[in-house]
Amino acid sequence: MSEKKEKIVAIKGMNDILPADAPLWELFENTAESVLKSYGYQKIVTPIVEETGLFARAIGAVTDIVEKEMYSFTDSMNGDQLTLRPEGTAGVVRAVIEHNLAYDGPKRLWYKGPMFRHERPQRGRYRQFFQFGAEAIGFSGPDIDAELIMLCRRLWDDLGLDNIRLELNSIGNAEERQRHRADLIAYFEANIDVLDAEAKRRLHANPLRILDTKNPAMQDLVNNAPKLLDYLGGESLAHFEGLKKILDANNVQYTVNPRLVRGLDYYNRTVFEWVTDMLGAQGTVCAGGRYDPLIETFGGKPTPGIGFAMGIERLIELMKEQGEPATPAQCDVYLVHQGEDAQTKAFILGERIRDAGLDVVLHCATPAGAGSFKSQMKKADGSGAAFAVIIGEDEVENGVVAVKSLRDSEGGQQQTSVPFDEAVDFIVDQIVGGHDHDHDHDHVHYHP
Ligand code: ATP
Ligand code: MG
Repeated sequence: MSEKKEKIVAIKGMNDILPADAPLWELFENTAESVLKSYGYQKIVTPIVEETGLFARAIGAVTDIVEKEMYSFTDSMNGDQLTLRPEGTAGVVRAVIEHNLAYDGPKRLWYKGPMFRHERPQRGRYRQFFQFGAEAIGFSGPDIDAELIMLCRRLWDDLGLDNIRLELNSIGNAEERQRHRADLIAYFEANIDVLDAEAKRRLHANPLRILDTKNPAMQDLVNNAPKLLDYLGGESLAHFEGLKKILDANNVQYTVNPRLVRGLDYYNRTVFEWVTDMLGAQGTVCAGGRYDPLIETFGGKPTPGIGFAMGIERLIELMKEQGEPATPAQCDVYLVHQGEDAQTKAFILGERIRDAGLDVVLHCATPAGAGSFKSQMKKADGSGAAFAVIIGEDEVENGVVAVKSLRDSEGGQQQTSVPFDEAVDFIVDQIVGGHDHDHDHDHVHYHP
């Protein structure tokens, strides 16, 4: 007996997505991608690692992310300061400037992928998590703001998610925030004993951020604080009104939340969050906003932008809360075989069935052996396949295969003997023609 080895486990706050959950993730991603496509958005993929300075500049120094959440390290090969991306906008904007993407007009972009933040892991809050996001670069009016919001609504609809509500605010422009800021600081200074340590620290660095506090003891204080909306000038107000008008005309429900300021420095005007009450404290499933000043601060020519990011884990949780997850089928056809000649035939047939566009699992040996017919048939049943194709010595001898339906409830499970060369056509006919099997071609299979 060898000595018991210590198990290696994943990094705290970084999760495996196991096969049981994979179909739900696939369903989410496929649905989101097709919604984005239906609005003309194009995919962009940027690196997971960027220079630390990119995020410090794009997100703002006095933010949760830059102050305490970034995974930053020194590249031991050359001393570069690098960071695992905590969010997607900074990288997309860098790429847009670097490749001159917006030179020939505005761009509608989307991305997905892992993000990294060193937070305290809890339900809905992880150290590696996945975001799905969109950025619309080069559009200045409230129409694109409305489009992004309505695109989210379509996604919730397509996923069958209700109980997600929209909160909306406008944070104006820098000048308007400056005037508000002076009054806000005066207000907080007059109530200094109610502020917690973090708020005190931010009082002069970034008082707006105090409105974002999750500290219950400060909720009354921030609820009664001067509201940015009351400081907006004509243009900012017109933009906000324009957005609300389109949303109203399209029957999009929302509440205006004056405390909604977003955690990032570069936002202006429109900010929004989609929130649910079904996930406990981490109820924001999507957050977005306009960032018109950002591209210029990166040395690009002044170009407006707006985007959102969704937390995929939270949306998957919500999908689970709202419906029994479908049981995934592993394949359409499970190939059962016994004997060396049968195995040869099974491999050939498996390739032919896959050529015809169906998914096939071919039974393979385990440490317990090749497996009896009975145990192989059990595996076939468990796979969720519509059919088992059985090849034994008799079948090889007679040049046939046995095709057994695994899902017919009436009259037991039918088994048909089919000539080897006709097996593919027979199975395709059975699956595509008439039978009550759902075969969809993006390879997500569900039991009916
Ligand atoms: P919070 O105030 O909850 O920390 P945030 O303002 O930091 O949120 P964003 O940077 O706007 O969040 O990210 C957009 C979305 O990504 C969030 O609304 C959420 O759904 C998801 N998200 C953010 N951080 C995490 C995390 N650590 N784990 C899982 N999902 C996250
Ligand atoms: Mg955060």
